[in-house]
Amino acid sequence: MNSKITEAIQFIKTQFHHQDFIPLHVPHFGGNEKKYLMDTIDSTFVSSVGAYVDQFETLMASIAQSQKAVAVVNGTAALQVALRLAGVKPNTEVITQALTFVATANAIAYNNAHPIFLDVDIDTMGLSPMAVQNFLDEFGEMREDGCYNKSTQRKITACVPMHTFGFPVHLDELMEVCNKWQIPVVEDAAESLGSTYKNKHTGSFGQLGVFSFNGNKIVTCGGGGAIVTNDTKLGDKGKYLTTTAKIPHPYEYVHDELGHNYRMPNLNAALACAQLEQLNSFLANKRTLANEYNVFFEKNGILFRTETPNTKANYWLMCVQLENKIDRDLFLKTTNENKVMTRPIWQLMFRLPMYNQCKKDEQKNALFLEDRIVNIPSSVNL
Ligand SMILES: *Cc1c(COP(=O)(O)O)cnc(C)c1O
Repeated sequence: MNSKITEAIQFIKTQFHHQDFIPLHVPHFGGNEKKYLMDTIDSTFVSSVGAYVDQFETLMASIAQSQKAVAVVNGTAALQVALRLAGVKPNTEVITQALTFVATANAIAYNNAHPIFLDVDIDTMGLSPMAVQNFLDEFGEMREDGCYNKSTQRKITACVPMHTFGFPVHLDELMEVCNKWQIPVVEDAAESLGSTYKNKHTGSFGQLGVFSFNGNKIVTCGGGGAIVTNDTKLGDKGKYLTTTAKIPHPYEYVHDELGHNYRMPNLNAALACAQLEQLNSFLANKRTLANEYNVFFEKNGILFRTETPNTKANYWLMCVQLENKIDRDLFLKTTNENKVMTRPIWQLMFRLPMYNQCKKDEQKNALFLEDRIVNIPSSVNL
């Protein structure tokens, strides 16, 4: 194992031009970023209205193959509002995966709803349609107004699959189960900008989808998010709810419901537009690195994770899967000691104090992956 790891460190260092320290993921600003930022300052429109916000929403709708996109202050806020739009109400339940970043669960909790943590598939590392079906076969009950959990008598108001590291979940199968049980799907596509399933963009399968433009994502605008949907009425409602629920009027302030100030400032939207223009080149660059990693790790005897059939992953954060936890711990320790940054996958949500009382299933695959998956340096690399 030691020699395999030493070889891997050498290979990664060569890929990243022998920098002193190789981070996991850093942004790349190689386009119109400065120009667009200067435009916003020159125009004085730096805050939450401006031409770049409109341009960003148009661009995002087109990239995500959706009718409408709403610019939001960050991905977590986008998911919180998307869940509200889908009809998530206090004291209802929302199905999601335990193997995710904490924001997925937090967005559910902000709506005062209860997460149900179900297992992921080994191949996609995302929510398993079979796990959802098994759960609903055991606990689901169809009533006039939707699906209920018969063990708690609470309504199940949404299902949130997360496309882990940009690998799309089995969307056809998941949509079929959720449609059968009339549960709206809200895709947490925060990590999967540029990833497609059967040539259709992730985030466009569910009733709503959300993206993040945080500093560590494939495209960043400092901080930002987007809600996408093919239901233009829901999209308009999303804009209104994230704009303090203000009824459009030339000069009067009328708010007729509890809204949020979750708008994306024009400064950030300017950066987002410049970054989105480079998305295709980022994707191509990452795919090249993924191919090189794949060839290397195959020879090296470590499993490099690749996209599943019928999908195209964005290879946002690339990862290897070690044989067991002992090997994983050694890989993490040795790489980090050698200034090649690597990181284990997240702690499963039900281990966190605020979610340790939540309903969960057996988690066979999530537990397996938790012990073995390690992210490796994945930046756009020139
Ligand atoms: C990044 C991320 C988010 C949240 O995005 P922010 O913009 O950081 O709020 C949500 N879900 C997942 C899975 C993420 O990786």
